[in-house]
Amino acid sequence: MTVSFALSPEQQQLKENVRAFARGVLAPLMEEVRAERDPRSRAALMRPAVETAVAAGMLRGLIPEPFGGTGSSGVDAAIFIEEIAVESPDFFITMAGPLIALAPVYEVGTPEQIERFVTPFLASTGAPVAAMAFSEPDGSANFGAPAPADGVLTTAVPDGDEWVISGRKAWSSLLPGWDGDGPDVMTIVCRTPGGVSLIVAEREHLAGRIEVEEYYDLPGLTGCMTCRVRLNEVRVPRSHLIGEEGDGVRLTLNAFMASGASIGTFATAAARKAWEVAYDFARTQKRGGAAPIIEHQAVSDVLADTKGRIEAMRLLGWRALDAVISQDPAAGELALHSKIFGSETGLEVVNDLIKIVGVTAYDVNFPLLRHLDDALAYPIIEGSNTGVRRRQLHDIMVAEDFDPLSASGLA
Ligand SMILES: Cc1cc2nc3c(=O)[nH]c(=O)nc-3n(C[C@H](O)[C@H](O)[C@H](O)COP(=O)(O)OP(=O)(O)OC[C@H]3O[C@@H](n4cnc5c(N)ncnc54)[C@H](O)[C@@H]3O)c2cc1C
Repeated sequence: MTVSFALSPEQQQLKENVRAFARGVLAPLMEEVRAERDPRSRAALMRPAVETAVAAGMLRGLIPEPFGGTGSSGVDAAIFIEEIAVESPDFFITMAGPLIALAPVYEVGTPEQIERFVTPFLASTGAPVAAMAFSEPDGSANFGAPAPADGVLTTAVPDGDEWVISGRKAWSSLLPGWDGDGPDVMTIVCRTPGGVSLIVAEREHLAGRIEVEEYYDLPGLTGCMTCRVRLNEVRVPRSHLIGEEGDGVRLTLNAFMASGASIGTFATAAARKAWEVAYDFARTQKRGGAAPIIEHQAVSDVLADTKGRIEAMRLLGWRALDAVISQDPAAGELALHSKIFGSETGLEVVNDLIKIVGVTAYDVNFPLLRHLDDALAYPIIEGSNTGVRRRQLHDIMVAEDFDPLSASGLA
């Protein structure tokens, strides 16, 4: 038996198709996004590209096959994410809300909930969006902490056949939807009488009840619409509770597993693009010397070392996404390594490449610094490495039955 790392003909085709879309549609779009100063207008520029991707079936590719989509393989997902994120991680984050927001619905949703909440994302027209409303302005790393900690502050109070949800949420992409009336589906992490719980609200519940307090102006990932919102007594049917009351911490952590694994692939994309820019510079620029700077051992050592780290990050991302999608028992540990190792290595790689290009890299119009701005986000988004992810890894490693070889399949 062999382990093959070669792409199948179908995966080759996937790579070609997504790369063509990324180069043809996303690269010019990002020029426009970079030129726009207003964060809300920047994010709005993404919408036509989302519509194009939806029409091409890309959104259905994010929905697992058992739920009506075409997503089936973790390695396919990694190829897709890397090719998109090389040109625009902003675009993937904008489109990929369902990846997190629907994960609890897949895990414990009733057939009625699955039908109702997943169907909008099987569309082949429009630009449906989902938001996982987890983060709050006063913090999210300790969202499940018991009293006297505050934990999650958003509340859902039962009132007859409805939940009445109030509180403030932040950061999650497209919290107000494209037009301020909310995304098609918003999965809200909130406190109910039974503990931390998840409740889904739809546009019809959110319209007029969601108020944007601020659109954040991000240094990287500038096409993402991230803001702080207030939910004012959003009324949702009691049947929109996902799973049991009090199961929200476990379901939320599970929901962020695939997205955590994918951060390693995002970091790979930033590092790959930065490497290409630095390599081209090193081969063509003499900087007043007699030969291109790649001829200096110090420069080529950095190129070689960073290339090796990129190869390692990519394979770990593939392995982690494969484990998550195939529900391998080691998926949790691998997803955390991809998130932590991938994000921190990606950041170091881009920083090292900036150092060999030198002062030219310090011009925002030279296409290198922008990848540092994106890479800076990866250790802190999708659960910061310090506040969330390393704590999760700690829990895995202190468990009595932890076997260090099981993540490698060698236990
Ligand atoms: C582009 C983008 C997209 C995003 N998408 C989403 C989304 O879809 N949904 C969503 O809900 N959020 C989203 N976020 C927000 C983000 O992913 C989370 O809010 C963030 O990962 C949590 O940050 P934090 O851990 O730093 O939390 P905070 O609670 O703000 O903690 C701040 C810091 O305090 C320290 N700290 C706190 N508690 C501990 C502890 N117990 N142990 C050790 N250190 C601690 C850590 O250093 C931590 O980083 C997004 C953010 C961005 C920028």
